[in-house]
Amino acid sequence: MPVPDPATYQVLALANQKGGVGKTTTAVNLAAALAAKQRVVLIDLDPQGNASTGLGISRAARGAGSYAMLVEGRPLAEVLRPTAIPNLSIVPADPNLAGGELEMVDLTRREMRLRDALAEGVTALKGVDWVILDCPPSLSLLTLNGLVAANAVMIPLQAEFYALEGVSQIIQTLDRVRAGHNAGLRLEGIVLTMFDRRNNLSEAVENDVRAYFKTQVYETMIPRNVRVSEAPSHGLPVTSYDPRSPGAEAYARLAAEFLRRHRARRRELAKAEGRD
Ligand code: ADP
Ligand code: MG
Repeated sequence: MPVPDPATYQVLALANQKGGVGKTTTAVNLAAALAAKQRVVLIDLDPQGNASTGLGISRAARGAGSYAMLVEGRPLAEVLRPTAIPNLSIVPADPNLAGGELEMVDLTRREMRLRDALAEGVTALKGVDWVILDCPPSLSLLTLNGLVAANAVMIPLQAEFYALEGVSQIIQTLDRVRAGHNAGLRLEGIVLTMFDRRNNLSEAVENDVRAYFKTQVYETMIPRNVRVSEAPSHGLPVTSYDPRSPGAEAYARLAAEFLRRHRARRRELAKAEGRD
């Protein structure tokens, strides 16, 4: 058997057990903004399938997707589909993913189904730079599969009163995943979403989060913007639906900051290796 090419991609999970904080919105729009320069695959791990709908794949059109891959062992190549955005493909959430969670409990290597599927799908991922995972709003087996398969986790945080409490729970989960199945899992950063400058609470929460998590908090904040919430009903990321809207511009800046941080990390690594 020929030796497969080494993976060229990095896996980024969007996770937070809280619902409605902007995971899916950030997964879709960061993926689309990155796809302007790089090749991206988005995997929809949420049974609600909002990332799939948001990228133009209606519930009726979903067919085989992440359920088929994780539970039935279908190869990635067979469930990967193009989107209207060049350089962005998606593994949609099939309608039966909701029941898939229970079925997965009895499978072998149940926490590693996604990691295994990506490893086996390395040929389909040739030339891909980023695999982005949209996790469900829970710390369920599907989220665990995402965290075990990921190199890094981005935590979207809505600037509201209990935001910090919620984040400590996901941070503890990352520690557990590191101790168990994925020692190299990195916190990519925390992104403040639905930010409202006119609201004093938004700013108070921002100050708290930055005081506590320092540079782990992205400089870029995503403003609350109605164009962001309208875009999914057109099956488009906001970066295509209304590229000049404040939401689209913020996601373009988020992608630029993400790539800047990635390059800085690579330089640090190269320096560290040079010293050895
Ligand atoms: P999650 O995936 O964490 O549950 P979503 O990304 O689905 O959260 O966002 C929850 C709701 O908030 C959705 O209706 C979405 O359209 C809306 N939303 C997300 N980000 C913004 C934003 N920046 N401005 C306005 N509405 C937003
Ligand atoms: Mg979601």
